[in-house]
Order: sequence, then C-alpha cells, then structure tokens
Amino acid sequence: MNTTIPPVQKNEYYHVTFEDLTHDGAGVAKIDGYPIFVSGALPEEEANIKVIKVKKGYAIGRLIETYKESPYRVEAPCPIYKQCGGCQLQHLSYEGQLIAKRKQVQDVLERIGGLKDVPVHPVLGMSEPWRYRNKAQVPIGEREGGLVAGFYQQRTHEIIEMKECLIQQEKNDEVVQTVKAICEKYGVRAYDEPKHRGVLRHIMARYGLVTGEVMVVLVTKPAELPNKKEIIAEIAEQVPNVKSIVQNVNSKKTNVIFGDATNVLWGEEYIYDFIGDIKFAISARSFYQVNPEQTKVLYGKALEYAQLTGEENVIDAYCGIGTISLFLAQKAKKVYGVEIVPEAIEDAKRNATLNEINNVEFAVGEAEVVIPNWYKQGIKADTLVVDPPRKGCDDALLQTIIEMKPKRVVYVSCNPATLARDLKVLEGGGYKTVEVQPVDMFPQTTHCEAVALIELK
Ligand code: SAH
Repeated sequence: MNTTIPPVQKNEYYHVTFEDLTHDGAGVAKIDGYPIFVSGALPEEEANIKVIKVKKGYAIGRLIETYKESPYRVEAPCPIYKQCGGCQLQHLSYEGQLIAKRKQVQDVLERIGGLKDVPVHPVLGMSEPWRYRNKAQVPIGEREGGLVAGFYQQRTHEIIEMKECLIQQEKNDEVVQTVKAICEKYGVRAYDEPKHRGVLRHIMARYGLVTGEVMVVLVTKPAELPNKKEIIAEIAEQVPNVKSIVQNVNSKKTNVIFGDATNVLWGEEYIYDFIGDIKFAISARSFYQVNPEQTKVLYGKALEYAQLTGEENVIDAYCGIGTISLFLAQKAKKVYGVEIVPEAIEDAKRNATLNEINNVEFAVGEAEVVIPNWYKQGIKADTLVVDPPRKGCDDALLQTIIEMKPKRVVYVSCNPATLARDLKVLEGGGYKTVEVQPVDMFPQTTHCEAVALIELK
C-alpha cells in the first residue's frame, strides 16, 4: 500500500467487495489495503460505489448499485431506522450480527493483540433480540401547539416523533406517551434548545424487568413545574406500577441530559430490580445496565471464568455500582471493588447492605492508583476482574497486575480493540489468554462486549 497517495479518486466509481463493518455499521471495502467506508453496505456484498471523500488513510463512498447481496441482509423492521441512528445493524439479520461481532473480536485479537490461536466462542445472543432496553431517555419538543416525544434527527436539533422504539421495553414506550399526554394536558411547554427557554427537556422512564417497578423522571429547565400537583396525581394514577416520580432540574444550555438537582416528587427515591439473585436499588441517576437479561449472561460468564472456591481474595476493578463484585462475593472469601465515581460507590455499598453481603469492601478512586496502593499494603488478589470503559485499562494497572501475579484475570470488555491491546501487555508479562466469550448486550447496534479468561503461565 502506498501511504502517501490514496489509490482512489474523488467522484470516481469502483467495483468493490466488502469485508468488514466499522464501529458505526458502515461496510468496509479495501483497494490495495486502503479502506473505503460505505454506509449501508454489508460484508460479502459486491457493489459499484462512488467515492465522495478522500482522506490520507481512508475514503468515504456511496453505494450506487449492489451486484451481490449478503445472505444476511434483511429489511430493517423499524420505520425510523435511518433517521434515528440509535441502531446501526437492523439491515443485518440477527444471525448475521452475531457472526459479524464474533469476527470483529477474532480480527482485533489477531491484528492488535497478535493472538492467533485464542478460541473466540460464538457470541451469546438473545433469543428475542428486541425490546430489551430498561431505560428510555426521550427528548421533548413542540409541534402545532402539542408536545412531541422522539429523538434528535442525526446531527440536528430537530425532534422527530417516535411512538415506539423496537429495542425499548414496550412498557417504557407506553410510560413516555402517557406522561407526555399528561404534561400536554396541563399546558407544559417543551424546552426549546436554540432559544434556551421552555420547561420540559426530557422524559425518562426506567423499568425493573424482574420486579415490574416503574420510575418516571421529568427533566426540566426551571425548578418550578406548572400544575405540578395535578401532573403528579395523574401520573401516579395512570402509569401502572409507578413507584417513583422524580424531577431533575437542568437549567444549563447544554446537550447533557441531566442537571445537578434531583428531587423526588412522589413515592420512593428508588425502584428495585434483580440480576440473578441480587437485588439492586436504582435511583434516577444510578448507572444500571440497560439490558439486564444479557447482563446476567455476561456476569455469569465472568463468575464461571473466575472459578472461585470460597477461599479467594478478589479485586473488581472499575466496579461501578458493584454488580460484578456482588455476584463474585457469593463465591469468594473477600471482594475489593474500586471505582472512580463516588455516587456509584455509594450505590455499591447500599446494594451490598440490601443483599446482606458483608465480605465486600468498596473504595473510590482510580483503579491504577488504588490497586497499587493496596498491593503495597499487602492486599493481593488471587483473582482479579476488570471491566474498564472503552479506553481499556491504564498501563499502570496492567503493570501492577503483572507484578501482583493473580492466578487468574477475568477481563470484561466493551471494546474489543482495547481488550486486544491489553491482552498483549498481559501476555508479555507472563499471562496466557485461555479463551474469549463475546456476549451480545446491545442487539441491533454495533456494540460488542466480551469476557476473556487469562491465566498465569
Ligand atoms: N462493572 C460495572 C460497570 C463498569 S463500566 C457494573 O457492573 O456496574 C466502567 C466503569 O469504570 C464506570 O463505572 C466508570 O465510572 C469507571 N471508571 C472509569 N475510569 C476509571 C478509573 N481510572 N478507575 C476506576 N474506575 C474507572
């Protein structure tokens, strides 16, 4: 491949075969190793494309004519799929999605991690890969005097009406529509983003899949909500199983959804849900996995890989609200969780108490600082679990792991590329990657989660 002159030219047509998908679901074709990204194309497809943008390292093309279709191509079931952008893979059958995600993990392990022979199991998918999200956060706009609940059309401030979202729990769609109608009845104006005025910015609905409990959150610009009493009374009456009505005030000119002030308007501060046997208290601002059914599968796998006998000290790095820590604590001697967000650690402690789990200890801080300190103080892990954000583990943490030498590391990853990079470091430090299990937490989207089992050689 010539690195200085791209092998394609703008406005020219090319016959290409697609081999891959990008993070946002575009097809990737290569000419002399130079990648061309084409929205709407799928692996295995052959097409005539027009190159519309040429950059040093890649080009963007447009599909002109497809000569050979992927056997996994389907009609996207959602009528607003293209405008919304929340899903990227509805035009690929679910079987095709699972194949693509497995291949993505295999490819980066080999390309970035230099790991050729590590078994990557078929992706554990959902039997019904729709209607799985337990949280809806819907922006509110106005049209012809009425309110619209929908989504921002990609790259605009325009709110397109959405009565249902096919990856959302039906319950949440109903709650949003009901609450919107009540607010409309009492003359609540929508927030106008460009003018920074109006009242109602977002309606959020949270649903406990196992308990059936519902939380409604109204995100408003001003602290006052007109006809507040009537609105609360009607929501309490009309939304089945509502346990909590909350207001969050966000008076800033920002596209961040939530502001700093959260007040309970009616009912409880929390709703509850279960993952496996463990009960979780979820507040308006708590982080909680959006696909609890698959979370159970993912964390079940992490627990299986940890192979605990009851004698182990375990460290759970990047522990969030302690979901994995509490799962592991049932089978370990002691679990130490560390997480950077103080509110998440408060939730983790609350959830430990709620489940009467006493062999856990949680600390606020950076994993790469706290764990080396623990190590200095003599706190060592027999098994170490990491579940970092997309950017992966900090190198200082990986070096501490290599020094500490836990027998087993279980790596839960939401980004196969950084997983592969980090596995390479651990392999260089005396570890071996035994196997990798991808789990589909976000059907219809390109997100890909995986759990890796790593053992000391
Ligand atoms: N295992 C968690 C989710 C992990 S998501 C659960 O089940 O709930 C990744 C988490 O890492 C987030 O909660 C994020 O706040 C936290 N985080 C990000 N950088 C961190 C760091 N340097 N040290 C510790 N935690 C960090």
